[in-house]
Amino acid sequence: MATFHVPETLDEALSLLAELEDTMVYGGGTAIQILLKQGILFTEHFIDISRVPGLREISADSDGVAVGPLVTLRQMETDARVRSVAPLASSTYAEVANPRVRNTASVAGNIAHGDYRLDPPTALVVLDATVQLSSVRGQREVSAREFFVDFQVTEVQHDEMITGIRIPKQPSTAGAFVKYSSLAENDWPCASAAVLAVPGDASGEPTEVRIGLGALAPTTRYLAIDIDPGTTDQDAVDAAIDIANTAIDPIEDIRGSATYKAHLGRVAVEEAVRAVMKELQDA
Ligand SMILES: Cc1cc2nc3c(=O)[nH]c(=O)nc-3n(C[C@H](O)[C@H](O)[C@H](O)COP(=O)(O)OP(=O)(O)OC[C@H]3O[C@@H](n4cnc5c(N)ncnc54)[C@H](O)[C@@H]3O)c2cc1C
Repeated sequence: MATFHVPETLDEALSLLAELEDTMVYGGGTAIQILLKQGILFTEHFIDISRVPGLREISADSDGVAVGPLVTLRQMETDARVRSVAPLASSTYAEVANPRVRNTASVAGNIAHGDYRLDPPTALVVLDATVQLSSVRGQREVSAREFFVDFQVTEVQHDEMITGIRIPKQPSTAGAFVKYSSLAENDWPCASAAVLAVPGDASGEPTEVRIGLGALAPTTRYLAIDIDPGTTDQDAVDAAIDIANTAIDPIEDIRGSATYKAHLGRVAVEEAVRAVMKELQDA
């Protein structure tokens, strides 16, 4: 039977993580509860951080938004500061599962879960977010692009806890997230793509299109292509699909074969790139 520890301070939580063997931080519990019910989780110690003060804050400045680990996915969807500073993040969090899950799940639990199908990481990599990791050894910042290491493997070490996510101000409004699910609309995706056009110089002209892929490889993948004012929609789509093809390596499961997911992945990339190119032309 697992023991639940309910620390009252961050120092206490980090000490428990350092001292005990076989621990898991308990965030919203939406992933942990499912694994427990399925009988495939045998962790001895859960560190429930719900009573640690200051972990549910969102703060924004001109450079971006700082998000506490226990901020819910629903807050990311609805908070006016997040919607204004990083609208692509906001609209991507809004696509996760259903309101019941989004009201309970936390931003840190979401990324620490490390599932290759997660939606928010696709936006976090294109927005160049950073993850703050804390332990009794100190604090470190890891780029979201380095955070997702491999299948169910993230940068979080056994004695570490995610204590924040920082999302820089979105460099342009030309962003889009497209997700395809094969079983039900609010089910896990079998392919997703977040795309963002980024100005590379003072002229404000976009020079780069960033692409985050979800559910299409053993972990979230990040890619980018160069564009210039002469790049047509079709040029951008072709270049994005070419580079996406180098990363698409789907895992076959009940939601579809590898071939089916790869096809949907290319459709998602095309749809998101076309939306972004249209936004650039309309701006
Ligand atoms: C029915 C259902 C449908 C879903 N559909 C989708 C979907 O369409 N798209 C999608 O992206 N996701 C989907 N999910 C997954 C959902 O996003 C995750 O379950 C959720 O985000 C996990 O957050 P949590 O706070 O509940 O994590 P928890 O269950 O508390 O923890 C999950 C993992 O994160 C670790 N963890 C938690 N907090 C921290 C921390 N601060 N520091 C370090 N480690 C931590 C835990 O130890 C555990 O390993 C779905 C989940 C359900 C139940």
